[in-house]
Amino acid sequence: MSHTDPYSDGQAHNAGTAAPGDLTALSPFSLANLFDTLPEAVVVADRERRVVYINAAAETLFGYRLADLRGRKTEIFYANQADFLNMGKQRYNTTASRGFSAYRVLYQCSDGSQFLGQTSAGGLSGAQGEIQGYLALIRPARSLEQSVDTLQRLHAITADMKRDHRARMADILALGARHFGLDLAILSSIQGEVYRVEHCHDPAGGLSPGTTFDLGGTYCVHVLSADGPVGFHHAGESEIRTHPCYRDFGLEAYIGSPIQVNGALYGTLNFSSVRACEPFSRDDLVLMQLLADTVGYEIHQSAMQKQLGVLARTDELTGLANRRAVMESLRWQMSHSLRSGLPLTIMSLDLDHFKAINDTWGHAAGDQVLRGFSELLGGVTREVDLCGRLGGEEFIVVLPDTDASGGCVVGDRLRRRLAGTPMPVSERESIQVTVSAGLTSLQPEDDLESMLQRVDLALYQAKQGGRDRLCVAQE
Ligand code: GH3
Ligand code: MG
Ligand code: MG
Repeated sequence: MSHTDPYSDGQAHNAGTAAPGDLTALSPFSLANLFDTLPEAVVVADRERRVVYINAAAETLFGYRLADLRGRKTEIFYANQADFLNMGKQRYNTTASRGFSAYRVLYQCSDGSQFLGQTSAGGLSGAQGEIQGYLALIRPARSLEQSVDTLQRLHAITADMKRDHRARMADILALGARHFGLDLAILSSIQGEVYRVEHCHDPAGGLSPGTTFDLGGTYCVHVLSADGPVGFHHAGESEIRTHPCYRDFGLEAYIGSPIQVNGALYGTLNFSSVRACEPFSRDDLVLMQLLADTVGYEIHQSAMQKQLGVLARTDELTGLANRRAVMESLRWQMSHSLRSGLPLTIMSLDLDHFKAINDTWGHAAGDQVLRGFSELLGGVTREVDLCGRLGGEEFIVVLPDTDASGGCVVGDRLRRRLAGTPMPVSERESIQVTVSAGLTSLQPEDDLESMLQRVDLALYQAKQGGRDRLCVAQE
């Protein structure tokens, strides 16, 4: 016999001569040899249903250590005492029928959490056939009840308005990982051959959003070619064991589904582990698809929300920032400048005699002039400057890191450009448009109101002074 033989420890071969009730054959040492590396949880008890041994998988599953449990009643594993008593009557007694049988029961872990366990158990007979103890193999079962529980939790996540998109994705990933009993959860986007991790749940902390992989190196190629949910519970023993993902990462268990957003492929949602798991059922694949569909809907909703946010801050006619967006930004720029000591200048603009343009050429021509002016405005300012339309023919430009003299350069450039750009008002005709401008720079004692009041006054002075000019506010 080789040294790996579990019976070579010199104890187990006493089994044949052991006296009734002698658990030498069940000594923890030999049991450890037999079961310690088994991925399924194993519990061995004596005739009185006292713990003799639990393997490493059972220690992990229940959260106890063998050293703390030895000699304790197996009642400790049961969520309900009634189940413990019933099992004693039905199978864990010396007169029960021999052989192993399977059942499901609700278990409880050391932290109080409960799970439904798929259990295969039976008596361990001595030499004369009398019961010496009991052995149970326990796997957490993904039951119908668990699926319902997961669906309820999923609903709670998506219905909670206080959670933002990021939090929802994180919660859905954690929920799926918990449901399938797998460690790693990934929400990926796929573009061409690039697989990008958008969100992930990795308790080991090795993976982070933004990481990219070759699509061909991930199991998700199988999901894409199946165009639906796919699961492998033990990759090393399946036809995909030659897949680069198995070779590179040793992922044994995997379940994933494509994510569709608005009818187009977005990426995949998948859960995986380096440990094999129980085979995936049809219900698991249905639930997998449902999780992916929910994520797809959430991604769509989030994109819509973003679009709405942009719309709420954009002037429809010109595409410039609207009053709300300008005021938000200006408030932020002011406090930033007051802290940093960098200058900040604003310029208020009002087209001259605009009413006359409307009256002469019509409202549509007026609109065209407003759009033309907006384009021109964008052309004379920097990327960091913010151009907004406050309403009617009134515009504002926020110039960060710019003092009054810098602001005058921008204003003069604008007026020169406007003078050289006749605005079309009909198919054949264009007109010369002029603008009046007021300008002011941030003062240390300013708030939003005082700064806006000052720039309005400067604009009023430009109008009073004859229009087509720029006035700088007196500080
Ligand atoms: P001033 O030189 O003193 O600024 O004279 P003005 O005619 O430009 O000023 P006033 O405020 O009297 O007129 C502004 C006009 O702008 C009146 C209004 O009908 C027009 N207007 C406001 N919003 C829009 C718009 O969205 N499109 C068009 N075409 N016209 C608009
Ligand atoms: Mg006006
Ligand atoms: Mg005007």
